[in-house]
Amino acid sequence: MSKRRKYWPIAPRWGLFYRDFGKTDARRFVAVFKATWQRLPMRDRRIMRDHWQACKDSFANDWGPVGLLFGPLPEVKVEGFINTRAPKKFLDPLGAYCPANKWQWPQVRFCAAAVNLMPDEVLSALVAHELGHAYLHAAGMAATVVDAADWDDTKVKAWVTENEEIQVREQMDDWGFHDEDITEWLDQDGNRKRLRNLQAA
Ligand SMILES: [Zn+2]
Repeated sequence: MSKRRKYWPIAPRWGLFYRDFGKTDARRFVAVFKATWQRLPMRDRRIMRDHWQACKDSFANDWGPVGLLFGPLPEVKVEGFINTRAPKKFLDPLGAYCPANKWQWPQVRFCAAAVNLMPDEVLSALVAHELGHAYLHAAGMAATVVDAADWDDTKVKAWVTENEEIQVREQMDDWGFHDEDITEWLDQDGNRKRLRNLQAA
């Protein structure tokens, strides 16, 4: 058995790495993520990079132990994760952007079951959706503001507002992606039910 590679470069120059948990075909996921990332305007990618860099710098100053991890920033993960706290009508059970807080680097997380079921074009739209959240947070335009200093898992009631979902859909349109591709796919061939069953299992 060959040893699994833990970190895969997505955009190493931007500090963007995929962390492999072995829940999906890493090669395929990284290829789709990379292609999606490269379709975003350079200016918007830079806004995200600068924000992530600032997160890293603040960790190094205030959170020594975290800074010692020297983790690639931010991490992209595909896990068994399904965000059960997200209201059903939102798409966010399939993925999440987690802004930096005092315990973790910024992360983009995806539900492995969804990633594995989705064709490349739909996965690309989902990646653009989560990058939309990342961009809005980086640009200070996000409707949902979680103060990193006050972050407490038990106190955060709303992980994301409906307003921010609307902003994300507009941002995706600007970038040439369409959130409807995800909804349409979910409504096809019992995909939504299939995912829900996986969630219940
Ligand atoms: Zn969303």
